[in-house]
Amino acid sequence: MITLNRRRVVLGVVCAGLVALPAVGGWNAGQAMRTAAAPSAPPSAPVDPDGATGVPVLDPSASDAPPAGSGPSAPSAGSGPVGSLAGPGGSLAGPGGSLAGPGAAAALGYGGVPGGPKLDPSLGAPVGWKLSDIPVFPPRPAPEPIVLPDGDRVPYLSRVPVTQPVAFLTMDDGYLKNPEAVKLFAAAGIPVTLFLTTDTIQDDVAFFDRLRTYGAVIEAHTISHPELAGRSYGFQRRQICDGTDRLEQWYGRRPVLFRPPFGDKDSTTLRVAKECGIKAAFMWKETVHKGIVRYQEGNKVQPGDIILMHFRPAFVKDFLAALRAIHQAGLTPALLEDYVPLDGGAPPASGRTPGAQVRS
Ligand SMILES: [Zn+2]
Repeated sequence: MITLNRRRVVLGVVCAGLVALPAVGGWNAGQAMRTAAAPSAPPSAPVDPDGATGVPVLDPSASDAPPAGSGPSAPSAGSGPVGSLAGPGGSLAGPGGSLAGPGAAAALGYGGVPGGPKLDPSLGAPVGWKLSDIPVFPPRPAPEPIVLPDGDRVPYLSRVPVTQPVAFLTMDDGYLKNPEAVKLFAAAGIPVTLFLTTDTIQDDVAFFDRLRTYGAVIEAHTISHPELAGRSYGFQRRQICDGTDRLEQWYGRRPVLFRPPFGDKDSTTLRVAKECGIKAAFMWKETVHKGIVRYQEGNKVQPGDIILMHFRPAFVKDFLAALRAIHQAGLTPALLEDYVPLDGGAPPASGRTPGAQVRS
């Protein structure tokens, strides 16, 4: 355990991609939601998978995680329409008609390339990996949208309460623009959600637009990657809303999901996110770093788990390790946005939304 100040310094370095540390800790907020057709997922206990690795972790006494049993109650029978992927205006297509957004990903059948991984020669040959490194996944099932609780705050989840054999791969920040990324995305043909920091990607916005062509969807992760918890409403609003606005201007699609930097948030964060048009905020259950998958629970990816990796030097190894972990668990990568209804919702959840002091 270290002090918050030191931790902020350490984490700033981490997310700058200069030093990489595995992410740790987390609380499942799955009990805040449920699928439209299934009962609530059982809550899980906080776990610090890196407790023995020397990775600094904020003292839980300073955490805003709720005491056991105080999480939000599950909503009653869902009233919100689910399954719609259309945003405001009904279009998720990127500028210039690029194949962007969840609608495009679904239309292209991402969730595995039919016949196995393939790579268009025009993208260049793989460097440091080969097509046979990419697992062949079972077909991606039709999405099973969850029901979001209503209220003035977005829910915060590290696992989506699904009943299907799917998991969700997410990538954060966007520091290193590895040219292998587009090849990997194209060859794997799986959906991925990118939580991007605008200051980090502004030097090469087009790089991430190319990834959208191959199944990536871009979501919000603030402007400059500050720790949000404890900051003023105005500060958080600038970081979350202005960052979302900027991504919309660049990519022609307004983000609907959000991940707070380091996974740190407070009630203001979740309220501001809601005001900015965000539907849900996400943490994670597994992290991947230097080709190693770290689990918060057990040693296997569970259905509905959200997996976190970054655009770091070991991007190729991390991507392949994440896919292997999903494959070995008998799961198929699915698109987070397909499971979050973009309109409607259930009655308000009561109590605080569980959170965690972790990094992303
Ligand atoms: Zn981050």
